[in-house]
Amino acid sequence: MSSAWPSLLLRLALIASLALIAGALLGSLAAWATACAALLVLLVSHTAYLARLQRWLKQPESQAIPDAWGAWGNVFMTLYRHLRNEDKRRESIAADLEVFSQAAEASPDGLVFLDANERIRWCNRVAESQLGLDGERDRDLLVTNLIRAPHFAEFLAGARVGESLLYRPANRKGMTLSLEAIRFGKDRKLLISFDVSQIERADTIRKDFVANVSHELRTPLTVIAGFVEHMIEEPSPDAEETQHQLGIVNDQASRMLRLVDDLLTLSRLEGETQLPREEAFDVRDLIYEISSEARRLSGGRHTITCEVVPAMLKGSRDELHSAFSNLVSNAVRYTPEGGRIVLRWAVQDGKGSFSVEDSGIGIAEEHVPRLSERFYRVDRSRSRESGGTGLGLSIVRHVLLRHQADLQIRSAPGVGSTFSAEFPAWRVTTPLT
Ligand code: ADP
Repeated sequence: MSSAWPSLLLRLALIASLALIAGALLGSLAAWATACAALLVLLVSHTAYLARLQRWLKQPESQAIPDAWGAWGNVFMTLYRHLRNEDKRRESIAADLEVFSQAAEASPDGLVFLDANERIRWCNRVAESQLGLDGERDRDLLVTNLIRAPHFAEFLAGARVGESLLYRPANRKGMTLSLEAIRFGKDRKLLISFDVSQIERADTIRKDFVANVSHELRTPLTVIAGFVEHMIEEPSPDAEETQHQLGIVNDQASRMLRLVDDLLTLSRLEGETQLPREEAFDVRDLIYEISSEARRLSGGRHTITCEVVPAMLKGSRDELHSAFSNLVSNAVRYTPEGGRIVLRWAVQDGKGSFSVEDSGIGIAEEHVPRLSERFYRVDRSRSRESGGTGLGLSIVRHVLLRHQADLQIRSAPGVGSTFSAEFPAWRVTTPLT
C-alpha cells in the first residue's frame, strides 16, 4: 500500500475523533460542523500542495523543491530524487558525448554524421577543412548539395562496405580525398574522408620513375642490339670498322652499368634507415684524392686546383666521397676545354663548406631548383654525351641530407657554376692554432 493511504486514514481518523469529541461535548450539530471544517482544511491544504506541485513542475530545475509534510512530503522527496538521478544521468551522457566528440575531433580523417535524409548533423574540423563544410552553418543541409562530385549521390545512397570514391575538392588544388560511407543506427550514415594526396603523388612519382628508368635503359640497349644484329647479319671484313662498332657497343654497355650503379646507390641511400657512420676523417686527404680522380677524368683539358684548410669532418667518408666526386665530375663534364675548376674547403664560424667552382657552361636560373630531381637535365644530349646518368645530384642531395648539410648552387650561363655543401659546425673540427 502506498504511503499516502496510511497518512490519509490517519487524518480521517483524527477528524472522526475530533468530531466525536465535539459531539460528546456540544451535541451532534457541533460534531458535523467540526468534521466539515476539518475536511475543508484537509481539502484546502491538498489543493495548495497541488498548486505548488503544478508551479514547481513548470520549471523544476530553477525552483527549489517545495517543503511539505506527510504524504506530500514523500511525493516531493520522490520527485526530487528522480530529478537528481535524471540530472546525474544527463551529466554522464553529456560527459560521454563530450569524450565522444573530442575523440571524433581528434580523428586525422574527416567525419560527417548524416541523418536518414542525408542531412548533416555534425562534422569534425578535418571534414570542415577537407570538404569545405561548416558544422554550424551547414547543419541540417543536404550533404549532396554541398559535396559536388560526380556519382557522389549514388555512392552515398549505396553506402557499401569497402567501396570508396575519389574526390578532388575544387577549392583545394592538388588535394585528393578518398570518401567512404558507412551505415549505422537507424538509417544514419557516417561519411569519412581520407587525404590520399601524398599516396597519389608518391604513386605518380613511382610511375614516372619506372618510365624514366625504362627509357634510360632502353636507349643504350637499342643501340647495342642494333649493332650486334648488324654485326651478325653483315659482318664487316674491315677490322677497323668492327673495332669502331665494338667501341660503340662498349660505350653503351658502360653507360648502362653506370646507370645501374647510380640507381643502386640511390635506392640504398633512400632505403637507408640507419644513420651514416660518424667517423672523423681528414677532409684535405679526401679532397686531394678526389682532385686526382678529377684530373684523370679531365685528361689535361682543365686546370684543376685545390684551396683547402686543415679540418676533420665527422660523417661517412664513403658517402661523402661519392657526393663530392659527383660535384667534381659534373664540373669536369660541363666545363669546356681550357676551363678552370677549383675545389675548396673553408671553415667559417665553425661551419664547414666544400665547394666546387667551375668556369663552365653555367645553368639558367629557372633550372636550378629542379637540378637534384631524379633524371632532371638541362641539356639531355650533352648530359648523355658526357656519360651522365641524370642521377648524380639526387645522390648528392641524399648524402647531404643524411649529414644535415645543405646544397647551395650559384650559377650563370656562360660564366660558370659553384656547387657547395654546407656542413653544421658540430660535424667540423679544426686544429687549434
Ligand atoms: P647528369 O648525370 O646529367 O650530370 P646530375 O644529376 O649530376 O646529372 O646533374 C643534373 C643536371 O644539372 C645536368 O644534366 C646538368 O644539366 C646540370 N649540371 C650539373 N652540374 C653542372 C655544372 N657544374 N655545370 C653546368 N650544369 C650542371
